Amino acid sequence: MSSIVSFAVPTATSAPTGATNTYLVGSRGSILVDPAGRTPALDRAVDERSVDHLLVTHTHPDHVGAVAEYAATTGATLWAHSRYRDRFERATGVEPDRTFADGDEVVSGDGTRVVVVETPGHAPDHLAFVVGESALVGDLAMAEGSVLVGDDGDLSAYLTSLDRLLALAPSRCYPGHGPPIEEPEPTLSRLIDHRRERERRVLAAVRSGCETVDAIVESAYEKDLSGLEELAAQAVRAHVRKLASEGEIEWDGGCARTVDSRDR
Ligand SMILES: [Zn+2]
Repeated sequence: MSSIVSFAVPTATSAPTGATNTYLVGSRGSILVDPAGRTPALDRAVDERSVDHLLVTHTHPDHVGAVAEYAATTGATLWAHSRYRDRFERATGVEPDRTFADGDEVVSGDGTRVVVVETPGHAPDHLAFVVGESALVGDLAMAEGSVLVGDDGDLSAYLTSLDRLLALAPSRCYPGHGPPIEEPEPTLSRLIDHRRERERRVLAAVRSGCETVDAIVESAYEKDLSGLEELAAQAVRAHVRKLASEGEIEWDGGCARTVDSRDR
């Protein structure tokens, strides 16, 4: 079994943990995943081993803060998603050494193998990394709460990616924020149900006459959103885009209507 060590790195993340998990996979030869920033503990761990490869699950700012520094100090091979090379460069400020795509394997000096699984949705360039029976899942899933599928997200793709991870049936998942997911199956099912329920509420809100994002947020979220209004608005826009792409509603970027109301 490959060793997977987690380091909580404080970041300006919208996740409630206020930190992003950076992972070191393997032992003598290691694979560094999502170096979000530098901490003394992570610096020590990186110094103690040879880091052969550096990967990120996606290029949101709270996952890539120390990519350039650790790439320089370790000399590791820096990988990027083959279709998002430019996005990677913009986010990290460095050019990748190599690119990979779905099904590719990264193998470190001690034989640790990581398999790349494309899991878009939270971000277009999102990847999960399968290590033996475990999976590093970035912002595809969290043990508690839910992840944001916002303005650069795609809810249909996100749900497909959750299904894909469910089918892989990992025995444990290591997320980008918060503790490991010890029982992936119920957690992934919960996340799928959560989105379906929210979609039902968003559709009901539009059908009851809510046209703007603010009005839909008000109707589809009953909890106190203090401080989270902008994230809720992003989530609603993602739902509205999905419903419009499926022909359930019409959406012009500012105003949502049921398809039927068009002819009234
Ligand atoms: Zn993210």
